[in-house]
Amino acid sequence: MDDRWHRREGYTFHLVNIDCMRQSTRFNVIMELSESIEGLLPYLAAVLPGCTYIHGSGVINVMDDGHIIGITGRRITFTDVGDENEAEALCRRYFQTIREVTSRKDTVAPVFQKRQDLTVLEIFRALPATNCGGCGYSTCMAFAAGVFRRETTIERCPPLAENPHRYAALFHKLALNGHRIPESTQPGRETSR
Ligand code: SF4
Repeated sequence: MDDRWHRREGYTFHLVNIDCMRQSTRFNVIMELSESIEGLLPYLAAVLPGCTYIHGSGVINVMDDGHIIGITGRRITFTDVGDENEAEALCRRYFQTIREVTSRKDTVAPVFQKRQDLTVLEIFRALPATNCGGCGYSTCMAFAAGVFRRETTIERCPPLAENPHRYAALFHKLALNGHRIPESTQPGRETSR
């Protein structure tokens, strides 16, 4: 193991240049775990929102804040990381999740098959389709893709945020797929109208 690796208790990580994008200042990150978590994967799949996992494949895939993350028994990879500080924070957060799930494994029902069943097109179809740009994206389709990749959240679309009850079905499906939704639309938070 060379000097590029940062050693922390329980894991090491290093940043890798993205070869096919020479001008890019973004990195991929490889995090190597000291101990295998292969047996923990079904439990992690149970708690990671919006992940994909098929038991036996040996890998959990999940989108988190624009990063594509792959979790295997000994290694976690993160795409599109800006710098060392972001890499450090991501590795620490995922290591804490591993520790936390390990400590309460008895209370977690393992999941052996989990897929995203919400598509970009499905999110797009539920949007106002005015391409007004109020969300910061130039089109509703681009915003739908951003929500799907978890780069943004659904309440950044003002027409939806202003009228959450009209879009309750979309919010419900997003919540089932582990997306963050406006507090006022969460189960048990409905107000009488
Ligand atoms: S704010 Fe909403 S309606 Fe406007 S472009 Fe974004 S997603 Fe479409």
